[in-house]
Amino acid sequence: MPIKCEICSKKNAFLKRPKTGSAACKECFYWAFETEIHHTITSGKLFKSGEKVAIGASGGKDSTVLAYVLRKLNEKYNYGLDLHLLSIDEGITGYRDDSLETVKRNQQQYDLPLTILSYEDLYGWSMDAIVKQIGRKNNCTFCGVFRRQALDRGAMRLKVNKIATGHNADDVAETIVMNILRGDVARLQRCTSIVTGDDPSGIPRVKPFKYTYEKEIVAYAYYKKLDYFSTECIYSPNAYRGHARTYLKDLEAIRPSSIIDIIHSGEMMSVKDGVKLPVQTKCSRCNYISSNAICKACVLLEGLNKGRPKLGIGKTSKVMQHFESSSGPPQTSAPCQGDCSCAASANSSVSRVDSD
Ligand code: SF4
Ligand code: ZN
Repeated sequence: MPIKCEICSKKNAFLKRPKTGSAACKECFYWAFETEIHHTITSGKLFKSGEKVAIGASGGKDSTVLAYVLRKLNEKYNYGLDLHLLSIDEGITGYRDDSLETVKRNQQQYDLPLTILSYEDLYGWSMDAIVKQIGRKNNCTFCGVFRRQALDRGAMRLKVNKIATGHNADDVAETIVMNILRGDVARLQRCTSIVTGDDPSGIPRVKPFKYTYEKEIVAYAYYKKLDYFSTECIYSPNAYRGHARTYLKDLEAIRPSSIIDIIHSGEMMSVKDGVKLPVQTKCSRCNYISSNAICKACVLLEGLNKGRPKLGIGKTSKVMQHFESSSGPPQTSAPCQGDCSCAASANSSVSRVDSD
């Protein structure tokens, strides 16, 4: 006998929800998926009416579903948000160029304005050129740092109040596990927050999918027939994150609640009094927020421009020695973008290697 949907008790179930294990019909799955995100948004007070919000859009499943669902919830619950798509073109031939075509179609499908910023324009370096210089070992470090700053720059250019990203529960759990394994207390605290970068000078980033399982996002995108791009980056994977991901998938197979359990555990952890945490200051080169005198993006860019690409990968002391012995600002072939007032009004948090 077919199993009935546990939500409406009328229709036959068509899937077992990965998050709850409950049987649901298609309509009830959509309803539960969207309603849970709505609850995450309202209980976390992620948005205020009248705000302009940039959705970080890559063309992948997470950001495509985020754009679709945010637009839908905005109308259904009258959030009063002005939604924009903001994409970063890292300059990865055969990957990002194709995924950006998907974002351009999403722009038409969802009728949302789209802005694309490229690494080439912002930094004078595409990821293809960076990989040519540094090889394929530390490429994700460059890419993650530059993307984070690029999103902030785009957000400032659009004058948005918030940036919404498609980080899902699996991503958050992975980051918690990685930070525990690295003993990185400062990042561990930050990565569990649903809103980050909300200091007075930053543009807050919000994660409406913080409690949404990746498998449910895939199912939603697939059954709704959303137009998304599913090819992996040709320069992936980031080996360390890859291991954390595999470990979590193994855990999830035994116990599906592992992902949420890890997130809840991360949220409950607190730092002992007296533990030194990095103090946020401003980069003396570009004025972006940083926990060091010179932000990671500036260090990496200096290394690239001076033919010493490992500069930002090595020890902090070596980096500081380099900057103390070199005079003047780092050479950059990127023209000033105007949104940074040659850095005077810029703000961001680029002190992290991995985006949260
Ligand atoms: Fe960038 Fe690495 Fe992601 Fe590719 S896998 S887009 S290089 S961070
Ligand atoms: Zn800087």
